[in-house]
Amino acid sequence: MKKIAILGSTGSIGTQTLAVVREQKDIKVTAVAAGSNTVLLEEQIREFKPKLAAVWEEEKAKDLRVRTADLDVKIVSGMEGLLEAAAEQEAEMVVTAVVGMLGIRPTVAAILAGKQIALANKETLVTAGHIIMPLAKENNVRILPVDSEHSAIFQSLQGEDENEIHKIILTASGGPFRGKTKEELAHISPADALKHPNWSMGRKITVDSSTLVNKGLEVIEAKWLFDVRPEQIQVTVHPQSVIHSAVEWKDGAVIAQLGTPDMRLPIQYALYYPKRRTLSGKRLNFTELGTLTFEDADTDTFRGLDLAYEALRRGGNAPAVFNAANEKAVAMFLDEKISFLTIPKIIEECMEESVFLENPDIEQILWTKDTVDQYIESRW
Ligand code: NDP
Ligand code: MG
Repeated sequence: MKKIAILGSTGSIGTQTLAVVREQKDIKVTAVAAGSNTVLLEEQIREFKPKLAAVWEEEKAKDLRVRTADLDVKIVSGMEGLLEAAAEQEAEMVVTAVVGMLGIRPTVAAILAGKQIALANKETLVTAGHIIMPLAKENNVRILPVDSEHSAIFQSLQGEDENEIHKIILTASGGPFRGKTKEELAHISPADALKHPNWSMGRKITVDSSTLVNKGLEVIEAKWLFDVRPEQIQVTVHPQSVIHSAVEWKDGAVIAQLGTPDMRLPIQYALYYPKRRTLSGKRLNFTELGTLTFEDADTDTFRGLDLAYEALRRGGNAPAVFNAANEKAVAMFLDEKISFLTIPKIIEECMEESVFLENPDIEQILWTKDTVDQYIESRW
């Protein structure tokens, strides 16, 4: 029986990972970690019986200890608890499904403990890819992508070890505001931005999809996962989200992975790689689909994508600045403190004003985040 730990078990990816575990019946969950949703976490503990569960706040952990006193589970808290869950002894694999740069330290801890990584938490690779990828190699750890586009690319690469990637075609749905003008976007509310046409996801990534920042983060994520240059990654808007991404080879062949939009497929592929398993749910039917369409991204209206390419070209801590500014700006937008169009403005200004560090270590990346947070708080 395969043993896994899930960081962010109560979120969108976390619960879908548990849905796969529930359906397949031959994976044991040894550790789970969540932020504050102890109601769902308790249900998960009762159903999946992990040995260890981490909750962010000690107050909540205390309460959960009382509620789970009848079970054989250790409840831990804080960053220390999250790190303990990431390195839980029995787990062979860690699913990283927390949001944001919070994922950096537990991902490092899991790699150092020799765990295979099923990576959903893209912000960790975006900001610390230059540390994570070599560290994984040194520790014989495979980083298996969970992000649907990167899983599609990874699936398209199977059996191609002898060949060098010519180009990556990263597809984007275009989000809920595709085709809208800047004027139309001026009064977008959080509720508008939280409606994604094809995918049901956590709040932060749903907003990122509506600004195209998510695609920008995915460009940087692809650079680290597949060792390509920025100019080898082409973003194409494909509103139906059926072609999940593709690889072009030097002879012009394009290999893609297609499917209905369902995150359980990339999650399951990462959990069982290189084996495929049966998965319940809707199958693709070409004649029902009829037409698939493609267009270029509107990078004038949605500035986030170009800013991500710029951060990638600059390197060093520039992607960390890009990402940290976005995390903070999205949180402020969701709190109705700034407007939708202020999100890219904040990112751009932070990229202009931040101190550049050529080869930041983990401490300097986290320092970059704190500095960006303080700057934004003082300005907006
Ligand atoms: P959600 O917001 O749905 O879930 C986030 C999870 O992290 C929750 O379990 C949350 O717990 C937990 N969490 C929050 N704070 C802490 C903390 N301090 N310590 C421990 N756990 C914490 O996010 P998603 O599942 O949508 O996204 C997770 C990651 O996967 C992101 O990096 C995202 O970009 C990436 N991703 C997501 C996709 C999707 O379809 N959702 C697709 C591709 C990538 P609680 O519920 O208690 O707050
Ligand atoms: Mg994606």
